[in-house]
Amino acid sequence: MMHPGLRIAIYGVLFFSVTSLTIFSTRFAGGLALVWPGTALATALFLTLPTERHVHAGAVLVALSTSATALFGFGPDWSFPLGLVNIFEGWFVAFLLNRARPQRDFVESESGVVWLGFLAGIVGIIPSAVVGGAIAAQIVGGNVFEHAASWLVGHGLGTLLVLPLALLLESYSRADYRHVRDWRRVLPFIAILSFTALVSVVAFSQSLLPALFLPIVPLVLASFRFRRFGAAIAVLIITAAAAGTLASETGTFAELAIPLWQKALFLQFYVVILLLIAFPMAVAIQQRQRVMDELVDREAMQRLIADHSDDALLQLDGAGTIRFASPASRRLSGRDDVEGLHMAAFFSAFDRDMVAASLEKAAEQPGQTKILERSVEHDGETRWLEAKLRAIETSRSKASGFVVTIRDVTERKLDELQASREARTDPLTGLPNRRAFLDMLDSKLRTAEQAPFAFALVDLDHFKRVNDSYGHTVGDAVLTQIGRIMHDMASEDCFFARLGGEEFGIIATGPVAEIAPTICERLRLAIQQKPMSDNDGGSFHITASIGVAAIGERCSSSMAMQAADGPLYMAKASGRNCTRRAQDMGALASLGTQVRKPQVKIAG
Ligand code: GH3
Ligand code: MG
Ligand code: MG
Repeated sequence: MMHPGLRIAIYGVLFFSVTSLTIFSTRFAGGLALVWPGTALATALFLTLPTERHVHAGAVLVALSTSATALFGFGPDWSFPLGLVNIFEGWFVAFLLNRARPQRDFVESESGVVWLGFLAGIVGIIPSAVVGGAIAAQIVGGNVFEHAASWLVGHGLGTLLVLPLALLLESYSRADYRHVRDWRRVLPFIAILSFTALVSVVAFSQSLLPALFLPIVPLVLASFRFRRFGAAIAVLIITAAAAGTLASETGTFAELAIPLWQKALFLQFYVVILLLIAFPMAVAIQQRQRVMDELVDREAMQRLIADHSDDALLQLDGAGTIRFASPASRRLSGRDDVEGLHMAAFFSAFDRDMVAASLEKAAEQPGQTKILERSVEHDGETRWLEAKLRAIETSRSKASGFVVTIRDVTERKLDELQASREARTDPLTGLPNRRAFLDMLDSKLRTAEQAPFAFALVDLDHFKRVNDSYGHTVGDAVLTQIGRIMHDMASEDCFFARLGGEEFGIIATGPVAEIAPTICERLRLAIQQKPMSDNDGGSFHITASIGVAAIGERCSSSMAMQAADGPLYMAKASGRNCTRRAQDMGALASLGTQVRKPQVKIAG
């Protein structure tokens, strides 16, 4: 930020030179100046100075304005009040602009430009035009209204011409000026401005053909190529050319068959129209360019992310067909190119319907992410892919497409499977635990009517004694050995689990269900025959009692447990180391009402 004092000094010098020059060169017939750029400079200074410096700046400018008028204009008599009115005008325009748009986007947005034109070109000038017009009438005589109108037009036009340029220069940062030093930009800039000057001079200095439309060509060119800056400077050049031909009394404007002041008025009308064409257009182009730049930046960033991501990023159309796929898609899909294929190409053929259903669900709730997790086979290896789907919302709130990320989650999935396996496995024996057993039982009970199964409970005999005689470690080793025997006997139709302590459960399904008692006997004998190490060089044997029941109707798991518990109790009661079936008790018919006999401890 420039020091306020320095800023006032620079603006002061500019103000004095520019106003002296305009008074000197454009005041026709001793009246008011044709264009008055002084107000624009004063306004720009007031807009960029802190409020507490306004009085200081105002005093300097009034002094300079007074001297310019005294030296080159109306003479010393009325120069002070005129200077006062001139500077008040600049301050008042700045005040109004600040009030109307505190964000000060006068050269940034289309509505800002409209406010600038309205306040700086018309409204802000009216009070000073009335007072200035009255003063001018006092000095040179004539109609107050005519002088006021002439003031309004001259000052309004001058402010409109110069203020956007001044504000643009003020809003330029050091970085913007760096471009100015780039010859590849400067040369075309100079070329277009020279072209503007040439076309304007040719158009205005002849009156053979009406050619006022010609300067619009370089003006539009300058606005497109150099936007606000190009538009502001091109209009200034056109104005200078027009005023020059009028002053030298040749060409289109000079040869109009109307009084000089009306020629000047017409010229101003012409220039304002050019300004109103060029500046809003330049600002609109600037805005669109900014949006485009942002879009390009964002797209480049997204491309960078897509290219370097391990996840496949996809864009699908409404039908689920892949329209864009990032490089990781190749690895995850195992295909060279997936663009043009359905998203299901990433998954197994039999998951196609599931993928389609997920897309449908995502389309129903745009903005919400749907997750699909499926395993796929790649080169004989199982991988897990997780797809996150999201419908792209459109104004019609109907999904016009999807964005999808697909990630290889095999590691995580294996960890999860491992954790869930661990949660369902008995750590000592490696057999499925009680929870796994109850789940299995529940699922079998659900279809018991169509698929009867057999259910058995195994309880080791006098196991307490093993612990008491050989120690807990030997007891554990025995349980491990029993687990190994069961593991070896397990099959798809024969499921073994450790239910807790020295109790085990068996579920036999399909063809095995019918021979369940035989299986139980085979197990019982295997246990009985297995020598168990006493950890002291010796060995001992252990036995088990087994109760088995056939389940052929739907019942609760506790009822099923009871159905096998009865025969188990009977096996214990009849001397242990034997298998008892529910039919042996004639109890299965009254499965639901069967009551467990009170557990009696049989001393070893
Ligand atoms: P029976 O079933 O033949 O009537 O006699 P039991 O001695 O097996 O009877 P009970 O069910 O009362 O005793 C079970 C014993 O099993 C109690 C406990 O010391 C032992 N036990 C339970 N879980 C474990 C285990 O994880 N490790 C070891 N070493 N012993 C266990
Ligand atoms: Mg027990
Ligand atoms: Mg026991």
